[in-house]
Amino acid sequence: MDETMKFGSKAVHAGVKPDPSNGAIMTPIFQSSSFAQGGLGAEQEYVYARSKNPTRTQVQDSIAALENGKHGLVFGSGMAAIDAVVKLFKPGDQILSINALYGGTHRLFTQVYAPFGIDFEFIDMEDAHGVEAHIGPHTKMIWIETPTNPSLSIVDIEAIAAIVKGKGILLVVDNTFATPYLQNPLDLGADIVMHSATKYLGGHSDTLMGALVVRDDALAKKLYALQNNCGAISGPFDCFLVLRGIKTLHLRMKQHCKNAMLLAHYLEQHPKVDRVNYPGLEHHPNHHIAKKQMRDFGGMLSFVLKDENQSAAEMLISKLKVFTLAESLGGVESLIGHPATMTHASLSKEDRAKAGITDGLLRLSVGVEDPEDIIKDLEQALA
Ligand SMILES: *Cc1c(COP(=O)(O)O)cnc(C)c1O
Repeated sequence: MDETMKFGSKAVHAGVKPDPSNGAIMTPIFQSSSFAQGGLGAEQEYVYARSKNPTRTQVQDSIAALENGKHGLVFGSGMAAIDAVVKLFKPGDQILSINALYGGTHRLFTQVYAPFGIDFEFIDMEDAHGVEAHIGPHTKMIWIETPTNPSLSIVDIEAIAAIVKGKGILLVVDNTFATPYLQNPLDLGADIVMHSATKYLGGHSDTLMGALVVRDDALAKKLYALQNNCGAISGPFDCFLVLRGIKTLHLRMKQHCKNAMLLAHYLEQHPKVDRVNYPGLEHHPNHHIAKKQMRDFGGMLSFVLKDENQSAAEMLISKLKVFTLAESLGGVESLIGHPATMTHASLSKEDRAKAGITDGLLRLSVGVEDPEDIIKDLEQALA
């Protein structure tokens, strides 16, 4: 592939080659668990599909190219990809992460790996300089998300990368909300980029997948061993669906960003809305950092109703017609979520408060419908 290709061309072409046996333009679904061997001891690329499958190879190479990385690895879900990263560590190691972490990641860290003796600390990283004081002799990884879910806070990736540089600490960025179209953490000094490809990369709410992208060969080898030995791989049909989704990532993201910005401005001036969290708004506390590290501001936003009672949120949700009440995000259709009772229900009320999640907070995954219809829907529901 031509390394200088622009993003949209990479989305269409990178990592994908016509099938050598028949010239099929679209990557076939190689629904085969085993591959015929040329002879005893003969070295060949494909042997057994847990280790390597041709459909998977192409989606891995495509995601790696979009993130300006060298090695891509995909897993059965975003959580399986995160799980592989945590398995790089051992009891006694410390992992630092953000307060406003994705609920599933928080559960994996605290409910699965903390009992094994890995130490987790969750801190506010909106001011990157505060992070240094939490780094100790056992700190081995910093795990961040930016923009965060559902508060849409921004963490300065470059500043955190500068703090960990030379200390033997891995910096991992969950880039699910931004997508590689808006932000490339490896270019900003991160060691691993993680994606829930279930969301924008797939883009059509029809599959689950997780991805990791790295540049370092030795790190890629360790992660590949975990992918192969633990077996949490993605099946060929899911690989095909995400490959197909990626081809329109740039087109979808343009519309997601445009619609979310229009909606953020609309909600901001609405008398029943107390606050809008969107990194594209100038009053967002870290708008300047978002502007520095992102190409646009994404399709996710959250807002708080002036009436903080859960019944007000319930009433609004019940009147929406374009937005559907559902978990997940990043598909072509607009979705609304209530984090306090949905994605973040497993957190204690105190932990929710720390992450800015009140009963009046609503999260929107703004789809690619016509913006007039999206705004009209909220207009009638708020009235
Ligand atoms: C959805 C999500 C995950 C988990 O991914 P799955 O594909 O659901 O396992 C991790 N991080 C973020 C930010 C997510 O939105």
